[in-house]
Amino acid sequence: MIHGSLVCQGCSGTLYAVSTTCAHSAPFPTWEVDHDRTPASCPLRPLLPLEGAAAHVSELAHADHVLTEPS
Ligand SMILES: [Zn+2]
Repeated sequence: MIHGSLVCQGCSGTLYAVSTTCAHSAPFPTWEVDHDRTPASCPLRPLLPLEGAAAHVSELAHADHVLTEPS
């Protein structure tokens, strides 16, 4: 499942987020969030990709530092 419309706070670049659900074990989907296109310079690059299991992409570690959801 691909979630659009995420924006990097560091470079204002577009981010993609993919969630993978393992039906058998994990209660939460596993996420991968990274730049759509690797930016020339982004202060948050050391934090990306965001990976981990969470109920929602915004609950990943560092998500509050990295993600901007357009209103
Ligand atoms: Zn960035």
